[in-house]
Amino acid sequence: MIHIGCHLSITDGYLAMGRTMKSFGGDTFAWFTRNPRGGKTKPVVPEDALALNDFLESEGFGPIVAHGSYTMNLCSSKEETRANGLEMLRLDLQRMELFPGNLYNFHPGSHTGLGTAAGISLIADALDRVLTPDMHTTVLLETMAGKGSEIGGSFEELREIIDRTVCGDKIGVCFDTCHTWDAGYDLVNGLDGVLQRFDDIIGLDRLKAVHFNDSKNPCGSRKDRHEKLGQGMIGMEAMRRIATHPALQGLPFILETPNDDSGYIEEIHTVLDWMKDL
Ligand code: FE
Ligand code: FE
Ligand code: ZN
Repeated sequence: MIHIGCHLSITDGYLAMGRTMKSFGGDTFAWFTRNPRGGKTKPVVPEDALALNDFLESEGFGPIVAHGSYTMNLCSSKEETRANGLEMLRLDLQRMELFPGNLYNFHPGSHTGLGTAAGISLIADALDRVLTPDMHTTVLLETMAGKGSEIGGSFEELREIIDRTVCGDKIGVCFDTCHTWDAGYDLVNGLDGVLQRFDDIIGLDRLKAVHFNDSKNPCGSRKDRHEKLGQGMIGMEAMRRIATHPALQGLPFILETPNDDSGYIEEIHTVLDWMKDL
């Protein structure tokens, strides 16, 4: 069995997200730690955080997955952008200590001209400056489509970031099915092979979460346009094989498909139906 859920809005607080997800039928969720423009966040009410932690435990939820801002770019060629990113990461991880034992994922970044090698060392540096041994969050690098100067479009690049940090035991990977497919990993005809490569290069023990999305574009397109389950080029049968793959059981799967609430509820129930056959 996997854990299944989708992205939720933090507007009504933390416990509200847990309750909403339960009403959707899911048992994990993701949320953006700050608005998409990377602005300020509302202060957390400590009672709300504690109430969510109790709720997650009593309802048997899987780990929840915070998502860092899209504007956070730890390897930009602009120093100010890098500094802002570092500060966002620091504050986000500080806040995550209110939810110990959960996950925080972010896009490794775009090197905007510096080159892949320089980008990788900047990302590793930033992680080492912010992660401390006493933190209770696993920080996940997301697999990317590899568009533009994006870092993380290959398993090798993610491996290298992890290798270059001294805090590597706190770092894992979030496998985005749309991004990985768009990056050229054939999840339709070669799922076992892709997971074997992941294991060889990064290690499946680092794989802590899945972003469960179909893709509007063909394998290798490097586009990053998500599609509803079964309506994209990965297709329903391959999505089912991913969700039921033995190597991925126990992980939180987060839907980032273009849906309103009723669409998410439907997709969650599709996945729950697959779980019945396991
Ligand atoms: Fe993402
Ligand atoms: Fe994603
Ligand atoms: Zn995406």
